Amino acid sequence: MRYFLLFFSLAISFTSLAQLSKEEKLIIQKIDQQLPQTLQFLEEIVNINSGTLNIDGVKQVGKKLGAEFEKAGFTTTWVSLPDSLKRAGHLVVSRKGTRGKKLFLIGHLDTVFEPDMAANPYRKLNDSTVTGQGVNDMKGGDVIILAAVRVLHELGLLKEATITAYFTGDEERAGLPTSVSRADFIERARQHDIALGFEGATALNTIAVARRGSSSWTLKTTGRQNHSSGVFSENSGYGANYEAARIINQFRTDLGAVKYLTFSPGLMAGGTELRTAPGEVHASGKTNIIAPSAVVYGDLRFISAKQEDSARQVMSRIATTNNLAQTSASISFENGIPAMEPTAGNYALKDKLSRLTIDMGLGATEAGDPGKRGAGDISYVAAYVDCLDGLGASGAGAHAPGETLDLKEFPILLKRAALFIYRLTR
Ligand SMILES: [Zn+2]
Repeated sequence: MRYFLLFFSLAISFTSLAQLSKEEKLIIQKIDQQLPQTLQFLEEIVNINSGTLNIDGVKQVGKKLGAEFEKAGFTTTWVSLPDSLKRAGHLVVSRKGTRGKKLFLIGHLDTVFEPDMAANPYRKLNDSTVTGQGVNDMKGGDVIILAAVRVLHELGLLKEATITAYFTGDEERAGLPTSVSRADFIERARQHDIALGFEGATALNTIAVARRGSSSWTLKTTGRQNHSSGVFSENSGYGANYEAARIINQFRTDLGAVKYLTFSPGLMAGGTELRTAPGEVHASGKTNIIAPSAVVYGDLRFISAKQEDSARQVMSRIATTNNLAQTSASISFENGIPAMEPTAGNYALKDKLSRLTIDMGLGATEAGDPGKRGAGDISYVAAYVDCLDGLGASGAGAHAPGETLDLKEFPILLKRAALFIYRLTR
């Protein structure tokens, strides 16, 4: 169905292109001319492994990309991070002018595929599909940014524009603490008016005006260790495991229906003896002993800081009131990635994009469902500037070994990006 619609929109696009200005038609023409070289460059950077922890690989991709931006009149800077973070750093390219909105374009150099994972070199599967590591998440998006501004530069349309493109080297696994790994990113974004994220496009006619944030929590419960035969009695009580179960079940019944809020107890254990390490718990015990301790680790996904805050309050109250006999509980919360909230400014930006896609003959652009997206780098700056994300390449299977890019949609998304940047910088 989607392909039929796409074909249909391509067919009508020739007549509707009349909605575009002379310059805009030139931009489209030049993008088509340069498409082979654009895809050639995509192939080159997809074939350099840049798993987040492969510092040399991430730097190599950054170097190649930076060199291309320099040819398009941009100044490049490499932002290094302290060695303790064990990350490559970030590529920043920029140019300054005095006209239009100041744009902050967001990409990332790393992928989830580390060198010890099975290789998947760039190759065409059929006329409309290519595969390769990071081909859509998000080297395809990086190349869209590059090809879009290169064409605008070559047509002399960027002379007065202020644009920074920021390519983080650790989006898939941010260096910790993020207050260090994202400090420069946030600082630079704040000097702009609009942030555009080039993470994968979910569909041709939707765009992300919001992304959920993500953080985590740890619940610890204790009980009175005793013979199991006394469980439920006033003296022995219920033990740590029943109390942990009571609490997480009440999280579900009290908060499970809140829109855009999710919380999953991803790891839990209880017993007589617990040994914990990051991402691990070793529990031992016996079935004839009432468990004295339990621990639950979970995440929390939320659409706004307010929603995160009120969920934390409810969870704290559930954990610390009406505890089962002879048990106690404590819960702690760890900050993560903030939410990109669906602000009026983001919606206004979506409307501008929609105007463009109508003018291109693609139909209106709608806001996508934030429940379907994870957190991303753009969320760190969403509190300071108007934002849209999902302007990158389309495809399937991001983060999975056979990740693909949709070759038919790629040129359309590239044109959309170039024209959008062009209109915003007038
Ligand atoms: Zn990504």
